[in-house]
Amino acid sequence: MSYLERVKNVVNISDLCFLKEDDIWDTLDTSKAIIFDGHFELISNMHTDMFFRFASISQYPSYVAKISKELVAWLKHEDIPEIDVVIGPSSQGLFFAYDIARELNGTKGTRAAYAAIDKKGRPTNELVEGFEIKPGEKVLVVNDLTTTGEGLDTLISLAEEKSGQVVGVCLFANRGIGVQKVKKIKNEYKFHSIIDLNMPFWDKSECRKKCDREKKLIYSKDINHLPIYSEENEYERYIRKLGKKLELVA
Ligand SMILES: [Zn+2]
Repeated sequence: MSYLERVKNVVNISDLCFLKEDDIWDTLDTSKAIIFDGHFELISNMHTDMFFRFASISQYPSYVAKISKELVAWLKHEDIPEIDVVIGPSSQGLFFAYDIARELNGTKGTRAAYAAIDKKGRPTNELVEGFEIKPGEKVLVVNDLTTTGEGLDTLISLAEEKSGQVVGVCLFANRGIGVQKVKKIKNEYKFHSIIDLNMPFWDKSECRKKCDREKKLIYSKDINHLPIYSEENEYERYIRKLGKKLELVA
């Protein structure tokens, strides 16, 4: 099975306003953003054999620009009013928040703001110094991906603690289908993800039962030391490269 065929087995594309489905397949196929056949621990402490890595996409700013255009088209389609601030975490979601604010930049001069992140890469309830959300401002919450909804929840709370009005929540990818917290956010806010990922994950206590323990466990915080995945079924070679990288970092 080709890489793209495997991708198509785990990705559902939502109704698109601007892009065509082939644009999404091309983005995923070229970037190799989905890594298969691995052993990963997600930010949420869950274990899984598949990983979605937005850095693979954000290395191509032209792809990020296309995705932003799609989300802005969705905002128009939903009649979401003009947005003052786009907030994302200061991790991979930053590229996305920045680029959507750029794409949105209408008469008002839409700004971007970034939440600081903790050691694990999770957004915190503090803005990076120098960025702000003023009371009454209309805020769009964005992230590259959600799995448990925790990060989105933190970003929403941060905006609301600053008395901003959250007018929408946008993601590139939703890995949290069926997760209670994600469902709740979907019910309470205008919510959109361009793709839904059917990529199972499980509690790390089930590692022995469900994971391929022959494979070295990679923590999400180390993922960005990984070289960009190049071919399918190359996990071991890939991990060897990671090992070298990590030695250099240590
Ligand atoms: Zn495991």
